[in-house]
Amino acid sequence: MVRGQKVMDMGSGVGLDLGAIGSESGSVPDSVPVLDLEHNKFAQQDYWVNQKSLIDFHKSLVDINSISRHEYEVAMVLKSFLEDQGLTVELQQVGNNRYNVFSYIKTPSSKVLLTSHIDTVPPYIPYSVDGTKIYGRGTCDAKGSVASQVFSFLSLWNRGLIKDGDVSMLFVVGEEINGDGMKVANDQFNNTSFEVGIFGEPTELKLGVGHKGIFLMTIQVDGKASHSGYPELGISASEIMIPVLNDLLALDLPHDDLLGPTTMNVGKVDIGVAANVVPASANASISIRISADLPKVVEMVKEKVDGVEHLTYEIEATIPPVYLDYKVEGFESIVLAYATDVPNFHKSLKKRYLYGPGSIHVAHGDNEFVERGDLVAAVSGYNKLIMESVKN
Ligand SMILES: [Zn+2]
Repeated sequence: MVRGQKVMDMGSGVGLDLGAIGSESGSVPDSVPVLDLEHNKFAQQDYWVNQKSLIDFHKSLVDINSISRHEYEVAMVLKSFLEDQGLTVELQQVGNNRYNVFSYIKTPSSKVLLTSHIDTVPPYIPYSVDGTKIYGRGTCDAKGSVASQVFSFLSLWNRGLIKDGDVSMLFVVGEEINGDGMKVANDQFNNTSFEVGIFGEPTELKLGVGHKGIFLMTIQVDGKASHSGYPELGISASEIMIPVLNDLLALDLPHDDLLGPTTMNVGKVDIGVAANVVPASANASISIRISADLPKVVEMVKEKVDGVEHLTYEIEATIPPVYLDYKVEGFESIVLAYATDVPNFHKSLKKRYLYGPGSIHVAHGDNEFVERGDLVAAVSGYNKLIMESVKN
């Protein structure tokens, strides 16, 4: 793309001014939704920059199977698209044939970092369209965000509304497994800094207020088996495990005004072999969704399990709750119950936003979809967030 070039692709339909930024600044919006009179009313709604279609670009990403750990091809397609648009692209190696895509105009450090993920959960589901809905794996989580972020960047740059040093983009691998992509990005950003992070995930075009953290643990009790008629000859794992679980379930866990209660799930319990055998072993898996004060929760749990004879435990994950910036004029907010890459990003940021098209209720499901119009609307949403961040 030529910087500052003004292109307006009208298609063959009726032009509507979508971009609040365009109209506010008085410049020409380079996007128009196209009203298709033959098909569904908004079936042809699209966003165009430099004769590239948002819907086509989104399709090109979804067409590629990029289940976590197999993101090579989608990273390469993204890289060449961004390079063709005149952007600088750096690949950050995360593993064998696994790369994050980091892109900017000339200077890696920027006021705003737009970021999302290019891996998906399994299984792969091919792209299909039904009316205004676009189905397929990753349509919503998170290739809808990726495509809209890229088009937002290009649209603002194209109109001269952002310049070098204003916005960089980072598309990571591995978000759906362990966040290894984002963790590698942190290491690569030693000399790179950002002020505002805009994280793309399905939020129904609302600003995420935050999301709960996680505490995962397994508890193991090793007793001694005996005939149930002679319990004094054994050590009952159930008689140790059950009271401990009861104590944990009775904990008065912290509450947060925005994120709500901290909740515990005893998700898996496995004790003994038969009714007439004193059980030799017991294990339990517990997850706690933390809305406030992770250290306090860890302390409360430890108090109940530390020092219990025959009991060992392992804390498998502790992720603190995330509180985001969500007060921006013109945006609704939403409380989220899912985890994201936000806590994996360790560089300091003055503001963090979570925003994107599509709903988490269909992400990861076999009916994953995004509304075509939401992809277009998300470009406008990102435009607003970027302009808000760049001017401040
Ligand atoms: Zn996601």
